[in-house]
Amino acid sequence: MNSTALPVLPSARDKLLFTPGPLTTSSSVKEAMLHDAGSWHWEFNTLVKHIREKLLAVAGVSRETGWECVLLQGSGTFGVEAVFQTCVPPTGKVVVLSNGAYGERMVLMLQHARIPHVVLRTAEDTISDAQALDATLAQDPDITHVAVVHCETTTGILNDLATVGAVAKRHGKTYIVDAMSSFGAVPIDFEAVGLDFLISSANKCIEGVPGFSFVLCRRAVLLASEGWARNLSMNLLDQLKGFEKNGQFRYTPPTHAILAFAQALKELELEGGVAGRAARYRRNHEVLLAGMTRLGFKSYVPAAVQSYIITSFIFPADPKFTFNEFYRRVAEKGYILYPGKISQADTFRIGNIGRLFESDLRSVVYAIQEAIEEMGIRL
Ligand SMILES: *Cc1c(COP(=O)(O)O)cnc(C)c1O
Repeated sequence: MNSTALPVLPSARDKLLFTPGPLTTSSSVKEAMLHDAGSWHWEFNTLVKHIREKLLAVAGVSRETGWECVLLQGSGTFGVEAVFQTCVPPTGKVVVLSNGAYGERMVLMLQHARIPHVVLRTAEDTISDAQALDATLAQDPDITHVAVVHCETTTGILNDLATVGAVAKRHGKTYIVDAMSSFGAVPIDFEAVGLDFLISSANKCIEGVPGFSFVLCRRAVLLASEGWARNLSMNLLDQLKGFEKNGQFRYTPPTHAILAFAQALKELELEGGVAGRAARYRRNHEVLLAGMTRLGFKSYVPAAVQSYIITSFIFPADPKFTFNEFYRRVAEKGYILYPGKISQADTFRIGNIGRLFESDLRSVVYAIQEAIEEMGIRL
């Protein structure tokens, strides 16, 4: 096939995405986008208001108890960066607990913003170290904020928000959590964990399409950041004021992604909310892991700290294995894996979030088995 030719023929159905976002969405979520919404019109603004309220409900928190929800244009990274850009004071200092590519991305954001920071690293298969955090906070009183990734999508490891949060709170620090790939499917007790800012996005466990991120935060903590923003378009406090003044995003909103998201939230509710979605994803993960183990693959993250969101598998030792060919063969059968590795270890990742069911996981395992046989790989 001519490699420069674009595939223009519409196929009967899309390939299934086993990636951690964007991911396979329901046809009803895609159909919700077949409209042009006026971003200044009250109908659209009412929908935005409704979404902000629904997200608070999904989080299990409320305005009455001091919580707020701010939507921001852009992918998930923009949301995380907006929190740092807006909410760390000029004299602030952040400690990042990192055990993967998304923790390292936080470090890059802080470098770009020239915000003083320290990094506490653990290996990619080891959860963040609350004891090391305790020691660091005890000997560095300049630190004002603690930041951690909940599900490190690099490997699928699930960090323990509660133990890290308890230490952050004991030292009186503001607690920022990137829950991009967990919010909506992994229960999080905001109060018990001691959260101040949680960031997630439209195209992960809520199963919407890409276009915006959202920040769930303690209103008082956000209001306290008046005057600190280092950046205009990502100023979360001004974004909140915009919503409160006239119901609008400050600049052009991703209207179609908002329409899709409203439908996605309905479907989350139909599935039984976070608990219902957690049950489906957990089942997906179990089916995947059992199938891959049967084929002879080994997962990378220890079972005790493995999330049911995404799973990393170690490359087969057989020298005939090359990831590119493996990826291409599985893709030709209709299943898209993540096309590369971001972990330092030789692993590939299979996500099981999105509109996927256990039959889809059985199918991808079967496709993987075929690809391995075609390549003559021994496991
Ligand atoms: C997906 C993801 C992000 C954000 O990625 P974008 O490509 O900017 O949407 C950040 N952190 C984690 C843990 C993620 O899984």
